[in-house]
Amino acid sequence: MSHLLKQQIEILDFHLRKPFLATEHGHPSEYKRMTMLTFLGSCREIGRSGFFIEEGKESVIVDYGVKFLNPPAFPPPVPLDTLQGVALTHAHLDHSGGIPMVLSDPDVSLFCTPATRDLTVLLLRDMDKISRGRLPFSRNEIPRVKRQCQPTAYEETVPLGHNFELTLFNAGHIPGSAMVSVRCNGKRILFTGDFNAIESRLNMGARKNLPKHDVVVTESTYARRMNPNREEIEIDLVDTVTETLERGGTVLIPAFAVGRSQEIMCILEASDIPRKYPIYVDGMARKVNDILVKHPEYIASPQAFSRAVKRSHRIHDNRDRQRAVKKGGIIISPAGMLKGGASHLYFKMLYDNPKNAIILVSFQIPGTPGAELLATNKVTVGNRDFEVDAEVKIHHLSSHSDSRGLLDLLKKIPGDPEFYVVHGESESCDALAEKLKKSGRRAHVPEVSESFEI
Ligand SMILES: [Zn+2]
Repeated sequence: MSHLLKQQIEILDFHLRKPFLATEHGHPSEYKRMTMLTFLGSCREIGRSGFFIEEGKESVIVDYGVKFLNPPAFPPPVPLDTLQGVALTHAHLDHSGGIPMVLSDPDVSLFCTPATRDLTVLLLRDMDKISRGRLPFSRNEIPRVKRQCQPTAYEETVPLGHNFELTLFNAGHIPGSAMVSVRCNGKRILFTGDFNAIESRLNMGARKNLPKHDVVVTESTYARRMNPNREEIEIDLVDTVTETLERGGTVLIPAFAVGRSQEIMCILEASDIPRKYPIYVDGMARKVNDILVKHPEYIASPQAFSRAVKRSHRIHDNRDRQRAVKKGGIIISPAGMLKGGASHLYFKMLYDNPKNAIILVSFQIPGTPGAELLATNKVTVGNRDFEVDAEVKIHHLSSHSDSRGLLDLLKKIPGDPEFYVVHGESESCDALAEKLKKSGRRAHVPEVSESFEI
């Protein structure tokens, strides 16, 4: 079956599942105003976020992301003929990876912050490069993100079609990240996207005192975890780095290019380390730095960040890498869980010297080289097994609220909203829904393609 035919059948299925639409078309006199919310992804999983809101003959999409399976998986297709606009919470590909597909009509606008727009284009291009033609859209479709973007500031409200209004609120997750509030038919629906209520050196923290909402679609990534105190983690991180450098070692920090690398730079900038030792930045984090320097309004302390960027040394090639390792200092390099990228090249140069340190700064998903290294001090990189003599430490700088942070923020939203819990492992979604119910709230854990009348 051709891809297009399959897509048309799926779209037809989509309509047939919902008898209210048949009624609307078949018997106009019975038409009653109704808002439908359909979950397209991130149901009992992290990845391929997507939400579809229909009101009368108009619709809006919030997020349309990817899940990195083999081949990459996307939310199911939805009818695009009624689409009034697309809103994007933030640049991470599990939210933005399929956005070019829903911008096929050049008159449909994308609403997100300018920082999200620029970071999304960078990440989509990178995904295209590594996917080698396995994506359902082409490289030429990526510029739609820039062309069709209507840059939207936090707290700004924009009308959309006849029925909708959108407002973005700071989500505190990565620079430019937003919660999307959609107003239609007199009701307000909040999509939290990924959020962090705690202020960090890079991010200002999610908007406190959110306005009244009737429905809240929330993430639940760390619904079953408590994050240690932020200041203590930062102090421990700086201590590990200082100890390593003082004993003549080199520090490797494998970190995600968007958000985490900049967070590390800001934490180090606040210490006296950068005045004594060089800091090197490798991989896509360099381009992310360039983008964020141009959008200072999304950084907690823009001057400190811009100083940190100016001070850091950019790595361009293998000669630079060898020189950096030899000279000593701190190397910030993708990928986050030692999953590849330049971090492998550094690892092979640093692993066998006990003076060196490898510092992991995010949760290490089981099965990744980072998780293996932490548990056993051994790791398989490429096809080789390494016994690691360098010091290995984890200082987890979370960019998501933990179980207490999630509940604190959600319970404070006025209007006794109905909660839909997504974007977490299945157990995390259930755990957050249960906690909300225990505090007297209505909460559901939706399945993919499930629709609810709002
Ligand atoms: Zn994210």
